Amino acid sequence: MREAENPHYDEPVGEGGDEEPMGKGRRQVRVMSRAEYEESIRRLARCDGFTTRDVTGLLAALDEALLSEVPFAKVGCSVMCQGAVVSVGRNSLKTDPLQRKWNKYRTFDYLTPSDPSNMDSIHAEIAALKAIPYPVDRQLKWRHARIYVFRLAPGLPLGQGMSRPCPACWNAIADKGARQVVYSTREGFAKEQLLRHGI
Ligand SMILES: [Zn+2]
Repeated sequence: MREAENPHYDEPVGEGGDEEPMGKGRRQVRVMSRAEYEESIRRLARCDGFTTRDVTGLLAALDEALLSEVPFAKVGCSVMCQGAVVSVGRNSLKTDPLQRKWNKYRTFDYLTPSDPSNMDSIHAEIAALKAIPYPVDRQLKWRHARIYVFRLAPGLPLGQGMSRPCPACWNAIADKGARQVVYSTREGFAKEQLLRHGI
């Protein structure tokens, strides 16, 4: 397996990433505005199977991604339940004990990290799950929840990249009992339904 198979660490584009380094003779990456991203999301989500709630969830994830401090992988996440966004989160360079707990499900990228100091840095999905207060968490109908993940990738045609949750985040999501995940890809969006015993 290659490190690039981890969706959180591939596509080092934009803001000085490998594909778009700063300097003489290099192509300048145009960073899309928030309004352009919104227009793009609304256009992409106009296909079958997407609802206005999905657009709301994706926009909430977008807004978090825009706030991310991580240079080459700005990822945002929102949790939609019973018609409302109940939580949002974004990835960060800060390490987190809950991320560390779930990282046991990560394999190659975690065991041989390129930057050991970032091994347990928190992912957007874990941040969003963690932000839900315990009493609310207990009351949520997680089976009906939908998780949205959006990743900025300024160097790519749509300005967005693959944000399929990594194994740590998939397990954290499944542990809650959530089944539906919508995430950005280079070409648009993907919806996945978790089918697993016990959830
Ligand atoms: Zn993750």
